[in-house]
Parts: sequence; C-alpha cells; structure tokens
Amino acid sequence: MKMVFLGPPGAGKGTVAAKAKDYYSIPHISTGDLFRNNIKNETELGKQVKAILASGSLVPDSITIEMVRQRIAEPDCEKGFILDGFPRTIAQADALADMVELDAVVNFVISNEEVVERLSGRRMCPSTGRIYHVKFNPPKVEGKDDETGEDLIQRDDDKPEAILHRLDVYAEQTEPLINYYREKGILKDVLTSNSMNPDKVFEATKAILK
Ligand code: AMP
Repeated sequence: MKMVFLGPPGAGKGTVAAKAKDYYSIPHISTGDLFRNNIKNETELGKQVKAILASGSLVPDSITIEMVRQRIAEPDCEKGFILDGFPRTIAQADALADMVELDAVVNFVISNEEVVERLSGRRMCPSTGRIYHVKFNPPKVEGKDDETGEDLIQRDDDKPEAILHRLDVYAEQTEPLINYYREKGILKDVLTSNSMNPDKVFEATKAILK
C-alpha cells in the first residue's frame, strides 16, 4: 500500500503513521524527521535546512523531492510506504506522481484552533521522533520517553511564533493538494478532533482504507 498522509501540522499524521506502519508492515517516511535527523547529525543537508525548519517555512522543492526520491527507492519501500509531510506543494505532488502510483491519500481534517492547542502542547523524543502531547497523549512518566526514558523536547517550530507561520504556509501551499487528490479520486477524509484519542483516529483510518 502506497499512501500519503495529508493534513495541517499537528493533525496527527505522524502519530497515526507510527501505528499504521506496524499494522501494514510498511515504512513510515516523515520528511520532517528526515530533515531533523540530518540537522542532528550535522550533515551538509542538515546545515542547509536548519534555519528553514526553525522558521516553519518550506524547504525548497528540489531538495525535498530528491531526498524522497532516494528514500523510496530503498528496498524496504517495495511493498509500500506511508509518506507523512510529503508532498506539501503541487510541484512535489507532480514529482511524486512521476515516481509511483499512489493507492490512497488520507486527509486528516482538524480545525485551526485545535491545531494550535495541539502543537503548543506537543513534545517529542529527540532520538526516535516519537510524539506525545502534555494533555492528549502524555508519556507514562512526565517529560520522559516511554521506551528510551530520554528527556522529551519541544520542537523550535512548535513555539508560538512559528506555529502561526506554519498554518499560513499550509493554507497557501499545501491545502490545494486536497482538491488535487480529490480530483484523482484517491482522497479519503478522516475527521479528527482533540477529544479523539490516537487509537480512535487510527481505527477511523483503518476503516476508511479497507
Ligand atoms: P513536519 O515534521 O512534517 O511538520 O516538518 C517540519 C518542517 O520540515 C517543515 O516545517 C518544513 O520546514 C520541513 N519540511 C518537511 N516536509 C517538507 C516538505 N514536503 N517540503 C518542504 N519542507 C518540508
């Protein structure tokens, strides 16, 4: 199954993808995580994109498309994959269409107010990318990752200044992809809200993909 998870930042794409990858036995490819790993490892790519990520703007299409092209050419992607956070522009979607034929695009729908509440409370394990929320999905021990015990961090771009900018970027550049994929007949909406726990959203996703 070759899938894209679409939706604004904080819609729960990464959290659901982490569950779906085990269920469908396919890799979860988060372009945000790939960039963050490059930044952490201080690679050339990481140095190029560090300031862009901190501001909440998009990395140029050429860089992002090439990174995804290489990743999905790896053997573990043969049977399928979940792309989380890619594509984010029409140009990226066109490039992806030249690489593979998608089976489904899941569009996670959530209001802007709920997104702000989610992003500002989001915490992440720096080494695994595992995601928590102080209120909606807290770790077993406050401030610590459930499996590694590491201190959780708040992403720079989950701080208030960057959140609003990311929502603008989403509305301008990424939202047009909803119609792009709806017209292709492969878009499936999953309505989410802060009162739905991640397991419930995953159940809704599985049901819609059946
Ligand atoms: P995310 O973890 O998906 O919220 O992504 C974090 C940041 O990585 C974004 O705000 C962008 O700066 C960058 N990024 C991730 N995916 C893409 C993409 N498909 N195109 C451009 N920039 C991206």
